[in-house]
Amino acid sequence: MIKKWFEIITDHRISLRDRMFRIVTVTCMVALLLIMPMGRSVWNILALAVSLVAMGLIVKVSIKKERIQTGATAITLLLLLLFPLSFFSAGGFYSGVPEWFVFCFIYVCLTLKGRRMAVFFVLCIAETLLCYAVAFYFPELTAQSTQQSSFFDSAFSVVMVGFLTSILLMFLNQMYEKENELSRQQKKEIEELNRAENHFFSSMSHEIRTPINTIIGLNEIILRGDISEEVAENARNIQGASKLLLTLINDTLDLSKIKSGKMEIVNVSYETGALFSEIVNMIWIKAREKGLEFKINVDPSIPSMLCGDEVRIKQILINLLNNAVKYTSEGSVTLSVRCERQALNRVRVWYAVEDTGQGVKKENIPYIFNAFRRVDEERNRYIEGTGLGLSIVQQLVEMMGGEISVNSVYTKGSTFIVQLDQDIVEEKELGTFTLASRAKNREGEQYKQSFEAPDAHILIVDDNDMNLMVVSKLLSGTKIQIDTAKSGAECLKLTQNHHYDCILMDHMMPEMNGIECFHALRAQPVGLCQEVPVIALTANAGSDNQLLYRKEGFSGYLAKPVSGALLEAAILSILPQELVHLNKEASQSDVEKDILIFEQAKRRSILVTTDSVCDLPSSLMSKFGIPVCPYYVRTEAGRFLDEQELKADELLMHIAEGREGYSQAPEVEDYERFFAEKLTGAQNLIHITMAKHVSVGYQNACEAAKSFENVTVIDSGHLSSSMGLIVLCAAYMAEHHATKEDITESVKRMKRFISSAFVINDTHMLRQAGRISKQIQVLCDSLLLHPVLKLRKSKLVVGGIKMGGFRRVAKSYVRQLLLDTRNIDRRILFITYSGMDEKKLKYIQDLVQQYCPFERVYLQKSTSAIASNCGPGSFGLLFMKRDDDAISFFQVPGQDRAW
Ligand code: ADP
Repeated sequence: MIKKWFEIITDHRISLRDRMFRIVTVTCMVALLLIMPMGRSVWNILALAVSLVAMGLIVKVSIKKERIQTGATAITLLLLLLFPLSFFSAGGFYSGVPEWFVFCFIYVCLTLKGRRMAVFFVLCIAETLLCYAVAFYFPELTAQSTQQSSFFDSAFSVVMVGFLTSILLMFLNQMYEKENELSRQQKKEIEELNRAENHFFSSMSHEIRTPINTIIGLNEIILRGDISEEVAENARNIQGASKLLLTLINDTLDLSKIKSGKMEIVNVSYETGALFSEIVNMIWIKAREKGLEFKINVDPSIPSMLCGDEVRIKQILINLLNNAVKYTSEGSVTLSVRCERQALNRVRVWYAVEDTGQGVKKENIPYIFNAFRRVDEERNRYIEGTGLGLSIVQQLVEMMGGEISVNSVYTKGSTFIVQLDQDIVEEKELGTFTLASRAKNREGEQYKQSFEAPDAHILIVDDNDMNLMVVSKLLSGTKIQIDTAKSGAECLKLTQNHHYDCILMDHMMPEMNGIECFHALRAQPVGLCQEVPVIALTANAGSDNQLLYRKEGFSGYLAKPVSGALLEAAILSILPQELVHLNKEASQSDVEKDILIFEQAKRRSILVTTDSVCDLPSSLMSKFGIPVCPYYVRTEAGRFLDEQELKADELLMHIAEGREGYSQAPEVEDYERFFAEKLTGAQNLIHITMAKHVSVGYQNACEAAKSFENVTVIDSGHLSSSMGLIVLCAAYMAEHHATKEDITESVKRMKRFISSAFVINDTHMLRQAGRISKQIQVLCDSLLLHPVLKLRKSKLVVGGIKMGGFRRVAKSYVRQLLLDTRNIDRRILFITYSGMDEKKLKYIQDLVQQYCPFERVYLQKSTSAIASNCGPGSFGLLFMKRDDDAISFFQVPGQDRAW
């Protein structure tokens, strides 16, 4: 029987409360058995024995009838009757019974729940106090016991209550551990199940996309041919059905991804105008086919560039607009967009999709966002749909931190409103956006290839014969020479002896997949295509692939099934222009860019980037195409982007009013976004940061670079324009095709030959940045002391102190710096300054001319982030030191430096 009882309490199929009831009640029964010898009279012992039997019966009946709570309540009542009886008959608080009162409390807590537990708990307390009070005021009601028996009873009870409570807790502990283990196991199983489900969905999607690719591709080729209207009609129907099938697969895949938490929101900078154009182009023709009017109202003040998940925003709006067209039989469909500024660089955008269609019944509105739920089935029977669209839309909006709402009047129409907050990338307003200016008329368009490139040579790598055939046929009009490879190995073999202008690479291939093949291609010791642009051509859907292929270093990404227009657009943007003859007869192809995930610009091999604090003249920046990641400047009024949102003069005025302003390095996410964006235009990035011990920019950039395979971060070891000099040389080398290793090596060596020292006019900013104490600042101010800051091993150190007024200090600094003219590379000098008038600048220039004239002198006004560190009136002479090695190491053979 004990074995059976053990089996029951360890059986996790029985509910936890049920098992708890059994354990606690049995422990209680053992307690009663142990109290029995304490009974001072036969009646007392009899009452205990009857209670024991009654308890056994209650347990049995309540378990059988599944009325655990009732059973536990009955037993509690029994205990509440029994304990006072035993208390008074065994000798009151001179007996061992008071210890057993504790058991009553434990019983109530562990077996009852909710309000019932609270009531009985209070009853227990009240009864205990009452018993003690009665025993105190009416001692004659309590049976007398000897001191010996009192001691014995009390000691016995304490040991027994301790023992039983420990056993009880041990049991409970074990039970909880088992439950925990079980739930861990279940969680693992669920995760595995989810993984399997996900895998199933993505492989199903992949497997279905491959034949659809063939169907859509070959169908397009049929449509291009000279065919009868009947055949064309059939082909168009096939096209429509395949596209619908594709939507279904995409929706199912999206839903499974959202469910498993694998859906990622990828924020990128995008042009609002381009986004609306694409949406308009996808919807207006559908509306017109149904005889509906399509209207668009876009707030002209919306910024022209925002940062958000462009792909998902498009997916949301297209879904809502498609529904609006689908559920409207006459009238119009309107897309309205308006925005409201939330912060300096953030806007809240409202997208409203309004239709004059059938509307949704009030009682059905709460259900329209449920997956697989189609409301008003009777009416919608002949309208295609799965009930997945709005569920996906709602979840995507929530993932982006936005809101969606719906207003609908049955039979009159509906309005779906989506609200999303986004960062502003470009302040410039979009201006008037009209349908006429954006919608492209594709009706009756006869296919014409957009370009011809008979001298171009491309390679298509795919293990599927049909795919190879479809892509080759779709491109046949362009007259490009096409080679095909059926595996990664074959691709590597072909590229050893042939140069291709572009490679289209399937991802999922047996033995060596597309990504492995891509890296093998890049690392091929003897090969002619290490640098050739490679476009991933894949049946794996989803916007997360965008990031994957971008990170791996691909030049672009095309999702299957891919249309001829799209293929042409992608290849056109990559082929060298001299090989391409544009077809003027062909109408500008209206490519649905949601399939072409990232712009296939012709990508440079290496792009040198830096932070805004590198302080180079904008003319040099644009000449060398050096993108900068802006620092932040924080003031009491908020955080501003260096120079973009806050100019140095504004900041200096702000500081002059006695207020604060200090610079902040971009955060890891800022760098990640910056790198991802710049990698669309280059295969590799070299990012040069400010001296690593002066700002956390270097650490943040390094952290962000870990997410990319092809980003190298270098510590310039300098500040301001001296760091700019290094950036300039690196950019120059990159432009002249130096390798990544050569540039990295050169930059590292060059650090030693740069002179960067600044005279600080006002030490207030240094104190604010915590570099000097208040006392030192006061001392400097009163004695007119001006520290000269230098960079040593990437650290900012005080290289000297100058004393006196501006002229005296400037003269002493310039003379000291330019004393050894033989060691100075006189070709370029930057005079970097902040908050200084022309007279003073002229004075410095004259001093330079007097001591060591340079071929070219750039006066560079510091950015607000730099000004926030050095304060007004500070300046520095930044130049290179002469060294035979230094001159040659960044000199690309046969080239002169261009500045
Ligand atoms: P479906 O594939 O059925 O269109 P959705 O999730 O997109 O699935 O929409 C769910 C339901 O919401 C639809 O079945 C339809 O009844 C209703 N619905 C959605 N949009 C509209 C609309 N613009 N007008 C009327 N009813 C709509």
